[in-house]
Amino acid sequence: MDDKKANPSIKNLGPENPEEEVLFTSLRARSWDEFFGQNNVKESLQIAISAAKKRKESIEHILLYGPPGLGKTTLSHLIAREMGSNIRVTSGPAIERAGDLASILTNLEKGDVLFIDEIHRLNKVVEETLYPAMEDYCLDIVIGKGPSARTLRLELPQFTIIGATTRIGLLSAPLRDRFGVVHRLQFYSPKELETVIIKASEKLKVKIDQESIGEISMRARGTPRIALKLLKRARDFAQVKGKGEISAALTHKALKMLEIDNMGLDSADIRFLRAIIHMHSGGPVGIETIASSISEDIGTIEEVVEPYLMQIGYIKRTPRGRTATRAAYDHLGIEYNETIDKQQKLL
Ligand code: ADP
Repeated sequence: MDDKKANPSIKNLGPENPEEEVLFTSLRARSWDEFFGQNNVKESLQIAISAAKKRKESIEHILLYGPPGLGKTTLSHLIAREMGSNIRVTSGPAIERAGDLASILTNLEKGDVLFIDEIHRLNKVVEETLYPAMEDYCLDIVIGKGPSARTLRLELPQFTIIGATTRIGLLSAPLRDRFGVVHRLQFYSPKELETVIIKASEKLKVKIDQESIGEISMRARGTPRIALKLLKRARDFAQVKGKGEISAALTHKALKMLEIDNMGLDSADIRFLRAIIHMHSGGPVGIETIASSISEDIGTIEEVVEPYLMQIGYIKRTPRGRTATRAAYDHLGIEYNETIDKQQKLL
């Protein structure tokens, strides 16, 4: 996402630098036991894997969707590992031409997993090339141009595509329909995030007290990646300002410095809520209008800001736009009057 750089909020960022990339890779769950939560998804995938193994076939194509940082990439690696398969990793924007796709697909071996991150960003031509590959394991390649052009059909080995997306709504119906297994990842409960933090601090060999674990898990927006980032920041803080152990006092200071409030909201969320409340009388207001009021990218709002605010009940989506709920007013300490309540009930 290009806008990640423009908005340096903790929730918007993927790994910020190579060091962080290494950290996330080293903390990645290596077995089902290390992958906490998402029990329904896990169970259903485990069944699909066992069934495929019994049939000695590759597993069906899988689509995983949900906000960033909930474990789509991690799950894909786990699936490949369980299947005893190699995984090839690419992303929608990286496959620019049908030829790029052809070279990836023709290099796959039987049973391989091809992970396509941000699959909603595949372009139309590439997407259409993918259909027969997914359905019949073959690739139609056009050779030459004009009247002399001919189509060559290449057989491919059986393979599995795992597509990941934060924007299921942007996926075309024909592409979505070609996935036999589709799962939505949910936000994690604070209890589940506590387990993620405890496990990660063990791996990082850093001491952390119970209060800090609780604080970080409450403010991580239901997202393991954010929990790990906050843990890392608290660890840095503890190393520089303390004796290396993450104490409650240091965690509070680190979170304060990051401007993350007790619900895990940062300045971008607050600006979003205040724009609905102050500039648009609490809504309903269209997403484009809010985005331009706060000079924020619509994609970022839909992908990262809104899902969590909806999850905690601070905003509602109505056919006429977004509205801020009473809980959002209360959180910001803004008086909520009964007229707003009546108007919203009429929507
Ligand atoms: P996504 O692909 O959905 O953006 P990732 O799979 O990259 O998310 O996960 C981000 C980080 O969070 C990784 O370091 C991963 O190890 C960790 N993580 C995600 N889900 C879990 C989970 N259920 N249990 C433990 N760690 C997790």
